Amino acid sequence: MASNPPQEELLRALRDQGITSEQVLDVIAKTPREKFVAAGQESVAYNNTALPIDCDQTISQPLIVAMMTEALELTGTERVLEIGTGSGYQAAILSPLCREILSIERHRELSEQAAARFADLGIDNVRLFLGDGSLGLPSEAPYDGILVTAAMPETNETIGAFLRQLREGGRLVAPVGSAKGQTLRVYERTPHGYETRDLCECRFVPLIGEHGQTTDDDANAAPTDTEDAT
Ligand code: SAH
Repeated sequence: MASNPPQEELLRALRDQGITSEQVLDVIAKTPREKFVAAGQESVAYNNTALPIDCDQTISQPLIVAMMTEALELTGTERVLEIGTGSGYQAAILSPLCREILSIERHRELSEQAAARFADLGIDNVRLFLGDGSLGLPSEAPYDGILVTAAMPETNETIGAFLRQLREGGRLVAPVGSAKGQTLRVYERTPHGYETRDLCECRFVPLIGEHGQTTDDDANAAPTDTEDAT
């Protein structure tokens, strides 16, 4: 399955920490994380840790990527929205497990790097958007799943906007809390509202923008218009 010893070790760690979906483990085994990390970080690409990428952002910890992916319970037919393209790694993991991924990023440089990686790896079911994803991407809604990969404030306004973009039965997986620490939470949209369950504590870089964290001094740098990056 996995092609090199560090990758095999990573897969063992993911199993030990409760990842049971063979499909998710198989995609992680087949996806070269070393192509998604920053130059010079290839030797630690299979560590089970988040790593720095350009624009002061991070590629998420593999365990968190696996948990978020598993929580969507994908069957292959879904359209999934990702907030925060970053390196593109999470979208690459989703790619074989669903029909289409729409991923929005506020940094053009990161979006362009991710597009180049997808082209290199033959990944052709990810549509990239540039703009403020703190409001979701209402123009393309509804979605079967939404992954927020930046720390989302726990306000009804923010969460409500995402839930409205979900199809009934769809799931939103998001780290909710302050910029300092969050709970990874699954919201499932039901006929009567939604149900939640908590997966673990986690720490993501902040969601910036209109519905993002209010304490980050980087907030003014967010582009305001959404544009199709592909
Ligand atoms: N999913 C990524 C991890 C991304 S880190 C991966 O697999 O590598 C979080 C990303 O969210 C960063 O790239 C950051 O720029 C982006 N981000 C933060 N606020 C955003 C917003 N309002 N809209 C779009 N992207 C945002």
